Amino acid sequence: MGKNELTMDSSRVLELVEGGFELVKNEIQACKGCVLHETVTNKVIGKGSDNPKVVFIGEAPGKNEDETGIPFCGRAGKNLDEMIEYMGLSENGYAVINTIKCRPPKNRNPLKNEINACKAFLLAQIRLLDPKVIILLGNTAEKAFCNGKTLEWGISEISEETGIIVLKIYHPAALIYKRLRIDEQKELIDKNRHLWE
Ligand code: URA
Repeated sequence: MGKNELTMDSSRVLELVEGGFELVKNEIQACKGCVLHETVTNKVIGKGSDNPKVVFIGEAPGKNEDETGIPFCGRAGKNLDEMIEYMGLSENGYAVINTIKCRPPKNRNPLKNEINACKAFLLAQIRLLDPKVIILLGNTAEKAFCNGKTLEWGISEISEETGIIVLKIYHPAALIYKRLRIDEQKELIDKNRHLWE
């Protein structure tokens, strides 16, 4: 990990945690930490339980999310909902957040400086939600959360930093019209059910 890398125990993260969900929301709304605030319509903070067993971390808001301020409310969201149903999670059993809170123009991949600018919010959200399992939806969430370490798809690990179980599976957008990928994703879920059941 780099010397200046933000961690769960960094003072900025602890300050946010101290102020609770309300402070995190207000600070995200006020944030001008990268250029994405210049083009955003609605910042996307999260949805679901405040006390979840599982937290899903996506990538970044897309067009629908930017318009509504709600994460995963478009086509990828439909796949995520189906995945959650397949996992058997109840409505208060999960929360959904994104690695970055503003939509990148034309849905390009988030840049490293944008991920870093949002990272204190991500870590504070995880501390506040305090889940049993973190599910990383694809590579961007992994990049932000694992500080350069890569995980095997569908092989859970205990995060050294947080002590929370982390699992990487496919991003729901990668499943759109991909029957084989959907079946593979179901296998990854089936192998890991014991983590949340
Ligand atoms: N893709 C994401 O990663 N997040 C969203 O909120 C929507 C699509």
